[in-house]
Amino acid sequence: MAYAWFSLGGNVGDVDETFASARRALRDLAVTPPRVSPMYASQPVGGPDQPPFINQVVGFRPRFSPHATLRGLWHIERDHGRSRATEVRWGPRTLDLDILIWPETVSADPELTLPHPRLLARRFVLTPLATVAPDLVVPGTERTVAQWLADCPDTHWVKRLDP
Ligand code: ATP
Ligand code: CA
Ligand code: CA
Repeated sequence: MAYAWFSLGGNVGDVDETFASARRALRDLAVTPPRVSPMYASQPVGGPDQPPFINQVVGFRPRFSPHATLRGLWHIERDHGRSRATEVRWGPRTLDLDILIWPETVSADPELTLPHPRLLARRFVLTPLATVAPDLVVPGTERTVAQWLADCPDTHWVKRLDP
């Protein structure tokens, strides 16, 4: 099984600490140690006026099915203070975990759309993904991550934080 790719996002609380803890929790869903992108700060897209987001991408060989993995992500989000009951769409949150790409999988299921339905429109995920998987062909397309990033029309700023 090839790597699946996931995004981490957050802009509430100690995001560095939240991400470090979430990456440890993600190991339970993986059969390989994760490959980890640098951290980025990004201008929020959609939603209310809010602080910049921190973003990162990780990849690993998954242990479970896509839906079981998604349920695992929800569990990790809840464990890190995510409250869907009180939040607004695309608003501030402690931790958002999405499945970006599952190997060789295309699905239009609204509960789990693959690749992630807004992957190709978001510089804040394509940029970190291109640092760890530039040559990955996005399932359902004939182009690589690096090619999609080069043509991405998103004008929101994205800044690398790590050296
Ligand atoms: P966006 O989907 O634009 O990134 P969001 O992450 O803030 O927004 P959430 O409220 O976290 O949205 O999730 C909304 C729904 O998206 C979830 O109920 C989930 O079932 C669904 N979903 C569909 N495809 C995916 C995917 N690839 N990864 C994660 N969630 C997904
Ligand atoms: Ca998201
Ligand atoms: Ca989400």
